[in-house]
Amino acid sequence: MTDMMLSADVSALDAADPLAHFRERFQLREGLIYLDGNSLGALPKATGARLAEVVAGEWGEGLITSWLGSEWSTAPRRIGDKIGRLIGANPGEIVATDSTSVNIFKALTAALSLRRERPVILSEATNFPTDVYMMQGIEAFSGGRVKAVTVAPDAIAEALNDDVAVLLLTQVHYKSGRVRDMAAITRRAHDVGALVVWDLSHSAGAIPVDLNGANADFAIGCGYKFLNGGPGAPAYLFAAARHHAAAPVLSGWFGHARPFAFEEDYDPAAGIERFQCGTPPVLGLSALEVGVDLMLEADMAELRRKSLALGDLFIEHMRPLCDTYGFELVTMQGHAERGSQVAYAHPQGYQIVQALKEYDVIADFRAPDILRFGLTPLYLRYQDMVETVDRLEKLCASRAWDKPQYHERAAVT
Ligand SMILES: *Cc1c(COP(=O)(O)O)cnc(C)c1O
Repeated sequence: MTDMMLSADVSALDAADPLAHFRERFQLREGLIYLDGNSLGALPKATGARLAEVVAGEWGEGLITSWLGSEWSTAPRRIGDKIGRLIGANPGEIVATDSTSVNIFKALTAALSLRRERPVILSEATNFPTDVYMMQGIEAFSGGRVKAVTVAPDAIAEALNDDVAVLLLTQVHYKSGRVRDMAAITRRAHDVGALVVWDLSHSAGAIPVDLNGANADFAIGCGYKFLNGGPGAPAYLFAAARHHAAAPVLSGWFGHARPFAFEEDYDPAAGIERFQCGTPPVLGLSALEVGVDLMLEADMAELRRKSLALGDLFIEHMRPLCDTYGFELVTMQGHAERGSQVAYAHPQGYQIVQALKEYDVIADFRAPDILRFGLTPLYLRYQDMVETVDRLEKLCASRAWDKPQYHERAAVT
């Protein structure tokens, strides 16, 4: 196949792409290829105007009356319900609130309150660090009641026993992109009487998720990745309706049954609202809602199909670079096991990711040697996959990564 035929094929893929029209809804500079939407989603063009309206109108004019008048106080529940439509939850099972880390704490302690006789929080050792750190913090605080246990990724099933109160797993692994079988693992955990908290940070808006179809107990995830909610966007927490009696440990007043009664004692709200803690971050929620609304316009099956096709195309074009320059594919090639990213290991991974910025490609690096290419089907084109490999090839051929400034690690990668 000649290069010209190849580029004609790729243009045809873009021309026939039913999601192509979403790209113009995002602010993306011409020439830039953004492959980091799994870490910070791109800016929807509608977000700026919405925030200006909330700031000038709802806050500036409405002042405190906007808590009711502009429905600020119910935003966590309203946006939670919208996120629920993306991930198979019923209305009243999700609140958009706090950070993912804080929600991990809340979900784990809620699960522990439902399994008081069991000591273990189980996870995989290579889980996203904050997930494991939160487990360790709970153990340290518990005065011997709770034990944080991590095992190798493939040892989860055998580590599930009747000491385990709760299993914490990330559905799509942040480095490799490996997808866990949520329904099968949840069933296995329930068989030994354990509960499961699913981290959906790299799932929501990236792959079809069916929480209630999998009989999930709790879930949490980020608002600023595939949901395009903006830097530090509020996260979300799902608790299946059958677990709404779980005791909140972060028993703040916004989770109270009657916050504005200012009662002396804590009495948790009956529903999902008990998983709120303090005053909702209205500006962040407003930006998140724009991202979620935009995602809801797209068909999730179509998104998944395109995400896999983008990945297949990228992997195919990367093959010669693997042979010549030593990239090693880390992501599973099988569709059932692949999330919405493609990862390669390379000893100079950090320098290459830095040097790629000279070529107007933004990807990211995860220690010790992983280059991560996030695939966001709402705003990436097939031609971006081919073009990225072209630019990477030029970079490798000229050894552009081997400059002194790329040898020093920055604080944020
Ligand atoms: C991104 C990510 C987080 C981030 O947590 P924050 O509290 O938002 O910083 C947590 N867990 C996983 C699996 C992630 O991918």
